[in-house]
Amino acid sequence: MDMAAKFQDQTVFHMTGKRAGDGLAELAADFRPALLAAYRDLPRLRYDYPVVLLASDAGGEYARSLSSVMGGLITDIAPRGIEGERLRKQLLRLEREIRGLVAGGATGLLTELWPLAADKAAGRDDNVREILRRAVESLDIDGEVLDCDKALTARFLRRAWQNVHAEKAARFRALVDHLVRKLSDILRAAFVHSQAGQQPEALKSGFGSLHDDVFDFSAMSRLVARNVPKDELPASRRQRIESALSVLRSQPFYPDSRGAGTETVYEFIFSDCATAIEAHRTRLPKLVEVVKAIAVAELEARGGYVEADHDAFFERYDEHALTADDLAQFPDYLVCIPPERNDAPENAALMEMLSAGMPVKVLVQHTDLLEEAAIGQGHFAFGIRSARLATTAMGLGGMFVMQSTASNLYALRDRVRHGMSCRGPALFSLFSGSPAEASDLPTYLTAAAAMKSRAFPAFTYDANAGSNWATRFSFENNRNPEEDWPVEDFEFADEDLQRVQERVRFTYADFVLCDRRHAHHFAVVPRDRWTSAMVPVADWLALTERQAAERIPYVLAVDGSNRLHRVIVDSRLVQATRRCVLLWHRLQEHGGIHNSHAEQALAREKAAWEEQKRQEIEALKQSAAAVTTPSAANAASATAEPAAQPVAAPAAEAVAEVAPPPSDEPWIETTRCSSCNECQNINDKLFGYNENKQAYIKDVNAGTYRQIIEAAEACQVAIIHPGKPKNPNEPGLEELLERAKPFM
Ligand code: SF4
Repeated sequence: MDMAAKFQDQTVFHMTGKRAGDGLAELAADFRPALLAAYRDLPRLRYDYPVVLLASDAGGEYARSLSSVMGGLITDIAPRGIEGERLRKQLLRLEREIRGLVAGGATGLLTELWPLAADKAAGRDDNVREILRRAVESLDIDGEVLDCDKALTARFLRRAWQNVHAEKAARFRALVDHLVRKLSDILRAAFVHSQAGQQPEALKSGFGSLHDDVFDFSAMSRLVARNVPKDELPASRRQRIESALSVLRSQPFYPDSRGAGTETVYEFIFSDCATAIEAHRTRLPKLVEVVKAIAVAELEARGGYVEADHDAFFERYDEHALTADDLAQFPDYLVCIPPERNDAPENAALMEMLSAGMPVKVLVQHTDLLEEAAIGQGHFAFGIRSARLATTAMGLGGMFVMQSTASNLYALRDRVRHGMSCRGPALFSLFSGSPAEASDLPTYLTAAAAMKSRAFPAFTYDANAGSNWATRFSFENNRNPEEDWPVEDFEFADEDLQRVQERVRFTYADFVLCDRRHAHHFAVVPRDRWTSAMVPVADWLALTERQAAERIPYVLAVDGSNRLHRVIVDSRLVQATRRCVLLWHRLQEHGGIHNSHAEQALAREKAAWEEQKRQEIEALKQSAAAVTTPSAANAASATAEPAAQPVAAPAAEAVAEVAPPPSDEPWIETTRCSSCNECQNINDKLFGYNENKQAYIKDVNAGTYRQIIEAAEACQVAIIHPGKPKNPNEPGLEELLERAKPFM
């Protein structure tokens, strides 16, 4: 290390956070991490935003990125090849204009923004304007266009909830409408067969006006009404059916499209936990009533209601009898807590509500991950109330938990919908971008930086997905999840204007650099004072304490003119960066990455296996040293009648019991040999056939242990037993002994 090159003022700043002298400059407001340099003009890039929140609820799709909508349109209407090139370019220009409009604050449906963007894209060319304006007719979707701004998170979640709600409503309405029809049919049939149903007016309405002149309905009534009961339905049944019908027709959970018969329609979207809990509590008796009405209606519709059995059951039916299936039919509550109300008293019961299993989906938004700690001076609280909320909820179990950032929401749209549709509670803990006073960067960039830097990594936990962490926990789009920090190639021009490429890691310190409120944790080092004692923060964290004391950590940043700078970091921020990576390690363990239990078990197994192999090889060496002449079996196979030897065993009667030899010699269960020839194809001197054309070990010294193993593996009936190796110096013995195990 170039110790002489280390400047004292850099060390002082790192240790104390105080700049002394002119050797260090303040961090200017236009600085940003070097890896964000490429995103200076976001509207010119095609990425996930803006999104179109679809107006229609057909299918499970509720959001499309503008890029994917335009990509689909280009495929549909621009001819393939060179003749479509002009139209493709015009449509891409139009997409860019829409992106620019939305980034500038414009809002509205895609079809409303389209003509504005078409006019901008066409410039003075009326022909192009006409083509672009007419292209909107080929769009098969429409919806509100939203940029990745502060409002996005709540609206995106709300749209996902609505999409799931519409699907549940359609299912519920189909069931209830079917039951209402069935019960009405029962009442109608009973009326037709009753005295009231046989009155002239009732008969006339049943036949219709066409037959007014043909029939005498008064005479007909006198004829058919004789001996007809007043009401063929027993009073108790009629009362039961009418009561169920009344409940189903007026249920306030999912009104029909006309709202017919419904005096009250329940709202399920709230902005605080206390109101949602109270609504759920007061509505529970009504929910029980509707569940009962459905159950009674289903029994009555199929003629299965038995008063002796069912009356007592339904009399005692209350909220304690509700099953998960019952609750799943009804809407879930959606609570979107405004970010400034996270700590408000009305939301104090958040965890209680979730752990109680209430059917609620809660959105908690975070807009500031860098609050200063209440205790101590100028230290980062580092996510006490934000980054740890989701992990705390995960610890409660029994629910769906998602932690992510606004920048990652579109990519996670299917998981968002899954969370909205799961049974039981769900928590969405989402970072919506840094506050305006912290940064001029677009919300998308600060949100992406939080996720990338591990300050707010993305993950989901789904208690219903399985019984262990491997099935329940999932990292969602974190870059390089197996690493401490994500790595990217960064290209820049050096002082000689030569192109240089570096692998740069994006750390928590880089994320903090985006926040001007924390500029005092950084100091800019002029290029002529760069030294070899300066090391990137990620490398500095990997040093020993002694090495670290000799070096100064820095991050790479660019200014407003995209000039590259080294910015050194004070020790408080470095400590916060270290805490960040420790929390990341815990998450990695949940995701099965560098799991400490698994790694310890693996190390134990490996050590035991190595010790066993060492002992086996040692034993082999000792036995080989003791034997200086060919083994009895080898001698026998070479000189004596094979039938006398258990190893060679050519005579069927001598080997009938296929007993293994008493030594570590290789042997074959000759009587079971199917004469497939595989072993002799490997070495026909080592293996031979007896007079029954069944294999035996002809000469154990004519081949290697490897050939015996290969023959054992090739033998279709697995009757070759390799014994122990003769040559302790044969290459690859450890591996061969392992392969021999199944045949011992
Ligand atoms: S491979 Fe097995 S079955 Fe085939 S000839 Fe050799 S010992 Fe017999």
